[in-house]
Amino acid sequence: MKHTDNEKDPQVAGEHLVSESSKFAEYYPDHPPRTESALFRKTKKHWHELGTECYINHDCKGGIEIHHRYVEWAFAGAVDWNLMRELHPDFDWSTFNDATDFVDSIYNTLPLCEAHHRDPQCGVHHVPAPNWEIQRYVRGDYKLFPDKDNNGRP
Ligand SMILES: [Zn+2]
Repeated sequence: MKHTDNEKDPQVAGEHLVSESSKFAEYYPDHPPRTESALFRKTKKHWHELGTECYINHDCKGGIEIHHRYVEWAFAGAVDWNLMRELHPDFDWSTFNDATDFVDSIYNTLPLCEAHHRDPQCGVHHVPAPNWEIQRYVRGDYKLFPDKDNNGRP
């Protein structure tokens, strides 16, 4: 991880810029081309019919996307399902016949706006967990990003 600290921005009093870039390599289990399951279509319909807002901020703009929270589809073949069962006792395991039943369930999904889902600066698929979670709790008078508002908008 490349890390640069203490870059003072004279326009933001009381804050300093930390800039990081990271590169990682990780094996994914081989899998057939992804197809959307009927359960995932049902889960997405559930969230959209609720009129749900982004998990990070109720003020986000843009469409709501459904994020796989605990395990994404591409890693389903790498999961120890006994361990998952132990760590997630609140999931209705009576519905579990195969990985899809957990992966594409309401329980394993989270509604996010496009920015908090996939934006390189603030999306869950790109930034470390502490940098992503703070976006949910940041004060209104605090500036997180040098080139965007706290909702990831330029
Ligand atoms: Zn959002």
